[in-house]
Amino acid sequence: MADSGAFPPVRTTCPYCGVGCGVLVRRRGDGGIEVTGDPDHPANYGRLCSKGAALAETLGLEGRLLYPEMDGRRVAWRAAIRRVAERFRETIAEHGPDSVAFYISGQLLTEDYYVANKLMKGFIGSANIDTNSRLCMASSVAGHRRAFGSDTVPGCYDDLDKADLVVLTGSNLAWCHPVLFQRLLVAREARPEMKIVAIDPRRTATAELADLHLRIRPGGDVALFNGLLHWLHAEGCIDVGFVARHTDGLEAALAAADDDLAAIETATGVSQHQLAAFYALFAGTEQAVTVYSQGVNQAVDGTDRVNAIINCHLFTGRIGRPGMGPFSVTGQPNAMGGREVGGLANQLACHMELDDVDHRALVQNFWDAPAVPDTAGLKAVDLFRAIEDGRIKAVWIMATNPVVSLPEADRVRRALEKCSFVVVSDVERHTDTTALADVLLPAAAWGEKDGTVTNSERRISRQRAFSACPGLARPDWLIIRDVAREMGFGAAFDYDGPADVFREFAALSAHGNHGSRDFDLSGLTGLTPAGYDALQPVQWPVRHAGNGGQERFFAEGGFFTANGRARFVATPAGQSPAHAFHLNTGRIRDQWHTMTRTGRAPRLSRHLAEPFVEIHPVDAGHHDVQPADLVVLENAFGRVVARALITDAQRRGSLFMPMHWSGPWSGAARVDALIESITDPVSGQPALKSGTVRFSVFRPGWYGFAVSVERPAAAGLAYWALARTEGGFRMECAGLDAIPGEAGATALLGLSAAPEATRLQYRDERGGSYRLVIFRGDRPVGLFFAARTPVAVERNWLAGCLDRAITDAAGHTALLAGRPGGASCAAGALICACNGIGANAIRAAIEGGATTMVEVGRRTRAGTGCGSCLSEIKRMLDHGVATETV
Ligand code: SF4
Repeated sequence: MADSGAFPPVRTTCPYCGVGCGVLVRRRGDGGIEVTGDPDHPANYGRLCSKGAALAETLGLEGRLLYPEMDGRRVAWRAAIRRVAERFRETIAEHGPDSVAFYISGQLLTEDYYVANKLMKGFIGSANIDTNSRLCMASSVAGHRRAFGSDTVPGCYDDLDKADLVVLTGSNLAWCHPVLFQRLLVAREARPEMKIVAIDPRRTATAELADLHLRIRPGGDVALFNGLLHWLHAEGCIDVGFVARHTDGLEAALAAADDDLAAIETATGVSQHQLAAFYALFAGTEQAVTVYSQGVNQAVDGTDRVNAIINCHLFTGRIGRPGMGPFSVTGQPNAMGGREVGGLANQLACHMELDDVDHRALVQNFWDAPAVPDTAGLKAVDLFRAIEDGRIKAVWIMATNPVVSLPEADRVRRALEKCSFVVVSDVERHTDTTALADVLLPAAAWGEKDGTVTNSERRISRQRAFSACPGLARPDWLIIRDVAREMGFGAAFDYDGPADVFREFAALSAHGNHGSRDFDLSGLTGLTPAGYDALQPVQWPVRHAGNGGQERFFAEGGFFTANGRARFVATPAGQSPAHAFHLNTGRIRDQWHTMTRTGRAPRLSRHLAEPFVEIHPVDAGHHDVQPADLVVLENAFGRVVARALITDAQRRGSLFMPMHWSGPWSGAARVDALIESITDPVSGQPALKSGTVRFSVFRPGWYGFAVSVERPAAAGLAYWALARTEGGFRMECAGLDAIPGEAGATALLGLSAAPEATRLQYRDERGGSYRLVIFRGDRPVGLFFAARTPVAVERNWLAGCLDRAITDAAGHTALLAGRPGGASCAAGALICACNGIGANAIRAAIEGGATTMVEVGRRTRAGTGCGSCLSEIKRMLDHGVATETV
């Protein structure tokens, strides 16, 4: 990549969420990388959230998988490719094509995804290829196909700016799609008449800033939207012309819906007064968008939830026009690309259908493939069941970590341990899944590979390389191509670069299309390599060369069903779960998926540095849980230990735990180990948002906090959670036995007992506490604090002291005390990641008279960057607390 002084920056796309923000990457004069928002990208217009803004901090080679390995030994690519091809070929020859599988990922680029899908569905002859996007938005795909006849997102981000009402349901947009949420807040500031409604069991960061929060009971979603459909019907809010000309099935949908507000109150837990307020607002607001995400999709009735929402938009004709429509936002950077290439086990490439004989023939002829399966393959959960019972004997997992992210995650681990042949392509050497691989294939990371991704509004953007691949890492499409060639399919995999793959993909989308399918890149089939390099973000379909893409679908009908009419779907509401402790899972603001990337960035760990469980104060009281205690969540499937976060943002009877913490970062916090593998019967998406658990307080012999320049040695601890700091690591921990002494604490810090090291120690035998600071020269390299009760020290301040020269006695005293002395002020938990502002500065501003978010921003700069922290600042203004665990 070029120096920023002389050459333009590289324009690429953020690799995290489905917003798909454009970024500019520059190399500074000192060789460092700088990442900023691309002001010209229509997804973000220059904005980035805290994760995107910290991208440059995640680019190091620490922990990278750099060489192919077989059975734990480094080998040449040739040997690894031959082994994978041979084992797949032999397994297929002996047991048939359905005895092998690929499990792939929304992290892959479209070109990678396309080649993998072509190899499995066209040349191996099985549909056993599914993607981790099954866990994220398969119910939206199924809901779209039931209603529209195609997996079409009808609207675009611009609708969020134009709407007068935005309903956010099952979507903590403020933390999970922060740049879209910022767009909403800016739009509302410009037009205060615009309203935001949040529907969520928890008072999330999104709900904090909404005009109306419906604190729905888990599982009440279908009843809520069925009730809305009836309300709209009763109020005469029907678009008679649209419904008559472009839809079928209204009567059945109305007949299946409950119209009794009292019954809806019972089903949803939302008061009749609030229900009526929401229904009237929706009925009276023409320009309404309903945004939904994992809270809708990850449920046993996820597809019905999607259709109950779509029903209301079809009824009012509010679809495909500016500021109107149902809008599924995807979690992953290229979940949409996976849908487009047929990465789901029940779809063919380019939005063609496996169960459509004409579509199968089109694809088979185009690929000149020996066979295209005529039945759907195994969806994610079933695929791993088939590995467990031996039906699948060889699996290739690409760019995903199912031992953390699938439900009943411990069972998934056991299944892979038993599997005869496991191949894993990854960027990371040490994940819960790479530990189980027979063959490890080093994949190129973000910034090292070229291709395209599609965001939630159907916008295709380029990801561009700005660094060479390190070690022997290679792009995924190239790895798959070489395995396909080694298996004897070379003629069909004659690609020299991602541009070749993209051109073929575009040509397949055009093949036999003639406007009959939504996904159409006819206008991009003639892209030259230079044209591919220069490709600007564009929304599909692109039916003609030079066409800028299509913003919206369906304002004038034109659905992709056999008769061209949309379908209302009857969605009878089921029973809300009534179990004592309902477990909800989700994301936090500054981490991404299983932390393989964001875990590297110290500032992203300063917000919430350890796994936690949100518990309502009344439930905490009944279980004798105090703030900062540890709690155990368990059921028949697994057990986790995490920090208690007692908050009335949580519903009574419900617990919430984030899904990010994996084996390398915590001892026992893989929350998906607790989730039963129940799936939506239509979409096959697992109900990851709904577990049933028992919980109890966990009383260890001691609690600890450690900071070290080395990776702490956590083995044998009853509880531990690691996070990166600028100079090393920090660790929360707990043990069952006596508090460690000097030797034990030194070993726990990962430090050797070097005689030249100096130590400060304090032990209170009666009170039961021990503190140790180890210096190399005048720099503290390890600090350990332990007590019989949760340790109260200034964690971020201590982490910031690591490896800094501290020479005076007052400084030493402060270190041993665990907090700055005198006039120094600790920052507290990091609230504003962009400007590095901690909770204590914000508290001081509020105590000093700041009464609004703007005023807090003016005094501290908090909230003036990407704005992801605004809801937390508001929470502090309203309630005087920040989201802190210990
Ligand atoms: Fe990346 Fe944040 Fe934009 Fe998502 S919202 S694409 S994580 S910068």
